[in-house]
Amino acid sequence: MPDEMIKDQKDDIIELFGSKVFNITVMRKRLPGHIYKSMMRTIKDDLPLESEVAEVVANAMKDWAMELGATHFTHWFQPMTGITAEKHDAFISPTDEGKVIMEFSGKELIKGEPDASSFPSGGLRATFEARGYTAWDPTSFAFVKGTTLYIPTTFVSYSGEVLDKKTPLLRSMKAVSDEAVRILKLFGKTDVKKVTTTVGAEQEYFLIDRDMYKQRQDLIMTGRTLFGSNAPKGQDMSNHYFGRLRTRVYNFMCDVDHELWSLGIPSKTRHNEVAPAQHELAPVFSTTNLATDNNQVIMETLIRVAKRHHLACLLHAKPFKGVNGSGKHDNWAMSTDTGENLFDPGKDPANNLQFLTFLIAVIEGIDRYPEILRSTVASAGNDHRLGGDEAPPAIISIFLGDQLDSALKQLAGEDVKSPHNHIMDTGIESVPNFVSDATDRNRTSPFAFTGNRFEFRMVGSQQSIAGPNIALNTIAAQVLGEYADILESSDDFEGELKALLRDRLAKHRRIIFNGNNYSEEWVAEAARRGLPNLADTPAAFADYCLPKNLDLMEKHDIYSRKEMQARQEIHLEEYAHTISIEARTMLSIAKREIVPACLDYMRDLSTGLTQKKALGLPVDHAAEMTILTKASNLTDQMIAKIDTLETLNYEADALSDEQAAADFYGTKVLGAMNTLRETADQLEIIVGKKYWPYPIYQDLLFYV
Ligand code: ADP
Ligand code: MG
Repeated sequence: MPDEMIKDQKDDIIELFGSKVFNITVMRKRLPGHIYKSMMRTIKDDLPLESEVAEVVANAMKDWAMELGATHFTHWFQPMTGITAEKHDAFISPTDEGKVIMEFSGKELIKGEPDASSFPSGGLRATFEARGYTAWDPTSFAFVKGTTLYIPTTFVSYSGEVLDKKTPLLRSMKAVSDEAVRILKLFGKTDVKKVTTTVGAEQEYFLIDRDMYKQRQDLIMTGRTLFGSNAPKGQDMSNHYFGRLRTRVYNFMCDVDHELWSLGIPSKTRHNEVAPAQHELAPVFSTTNLATDNNQVIMETLIRVAKRHHLACLLHAKPFKGVNGSGKHDNWAMSTDTGENLFDPGKDPANNLQFLTFLIAVIEGIDRYPEILRSTVASAGNDHRLGGDEAPPAIISIFLGDQLDSALKQLAGEDVKSPHNHIMDTGIESVPNFVSDATDRNRTSPFAFTGNRFEFRMVGSQQSIAGPNIALNTIAAQVLGEYADILESSDDFEGELKALLRDRLAKHRRIIFNGNNYSEEWVAEAARRGLPNLADTPAAFADYCLPKNLDLMEKHDIYSRKEMQARQEIHLEEYAHTISIEARTMLSIAKREIVPACLDYMRDLSTGLTQKKALGLPVDHAAEMTILTKASNLTDQMIAKIDTLETLNYEADALSDEQAAADFYGTKVLGAMNTLRETADQLEIIVGKKYWPYPIYQDLLFYV
């Protein structure tokens, strides 16, 4: 379809939605009654699955998948790379007569045995200890993509160590559920058996033209531009945010929605974001586990469908310097199996003790464990975004807004009035009046209460949301559990609860900040309050294994100490590798593309000068001379800076201690990269455009 034609969606969306998912509707239709019931007990009540059930489910799944064109199945898992892994096996099984039958057993559904030695393990696995297991997660539905049946699985080593992001996520969901149920029991809600954390992850991304993408080694190798001076126009005019969707982008979005809907992913919102060429997709929230799996599929779909439209989708947290980066807002709440959202403040939050209990538990938890939460969003890419003028700083704080602020003041015994929802009258008769919210928004806060949920805004666009949600769930579980320990033995529940909440609020109030988080003053104020400011990834991971964090994770059976140490090592190594690859890519571009372009340009300038001279024209103040002098000085500087970066990168590569290496990369190597870029970017605006070896910012950002 030509780009300028607006796509029009003719499919029956109700039919389409979830048509490639082995969901509850399909199970009800295709499984014998007792098997279906047994599956539901596993999905809804987390009861173990009998092997007889798995056998029947596997067969039904295979038949269903084959009707959709599947020939293979894969155990789909989420190793520590932050993306997903898959290895496809065909259903075929040869017969004696030289034919095949299509088979898929319960055993194959339940367990897989991928080689674990080639995934990051942080020293938990040596190459000779290769065995790892994937195990079916029946709480996340299997689906068909292309010709393969995808089975969501967890991934552990032969000796049971966690090697993935799903296992700890499921464990953290269980931990917070158990503790929340204890608290609810104290409020008389004995019918609640399970509390589920819910998540809606808003996904930001950039779209650029694919031909231009292909000309940029930096985008291909590292996902971000390592060179490039600002375009004359940025987001100054504020005309991109929520702007009309250009046709090519719109068509792309239609195709993305179409694919996601068929996979049962409730993609709901699409719009242009603040930066030029930046967009957002948000699904309707679901359980944390599903939302995490779905977000992986969303990222993969954006990248794949973009190719079809001759676009490249950039998921890096900061693809362009001087332009807003991309985040992933993690909206997080808890709801009971009886349908109650525990973060719903109700009409009168000041007197809603149950709500206040959950709220204050979160406030206390975040104040006690900011380092662990911070570490879950730490990455080389996100370091460029956090603390810029577009994203929250690296300091964790909580925004509550007027309504909750006043509720907490009332709890603390202060004499304040609750702000109310008011009727908004626009003064135009034909426009209906409506009720406005009791609280305004604060876009600058890293962790904001937004009416009936929290929005964690520090997550980078490329990161798995498993990590942040593992931390949030576990932190909440810890504090709720402590509250339950105290209150379960109390004779005066309400009196003791109020006293407890007042006491905890007083102790942890410092984490609440309702002002502008982007301001310099907040950085100083946060330091006065004693809040940690872990500015970059090496700093964040230096605190990862603090004794309180090891205790926390061990207590709730999320990670053992060894697994925490392994994770620290994995993330520090990943950081070092990322910067090392960026440095090597920069060197390659600088040496083989930029410097030769500058030399070409200077040779032409010199030829011009020689010719002028031959004609007897004065050359001392000629344009060629002025430009040549500048370009020549800068190119000489480039060469020197290339040498420095090369030397430092070698030095860094040789460091064996992970923390020392990460620190060195983060200061010395990154520093040398920045100064090399500065010079190259100065040259970019001097050297003639036709000499420049790759598309510049204005082409990349304003072409699509
Ligand atoms: P905004 O950009 O204004 O913050 P969006 O509509 O883009 O809002 O995204 C809000 C996200 O929050 C959606 O994914 C939505 O489904 C999700 N959300 C709403 N309620 C809850 C909840 N109770 N738990 C988790 N996520 C929620
Ligand atoms: Mg949004």
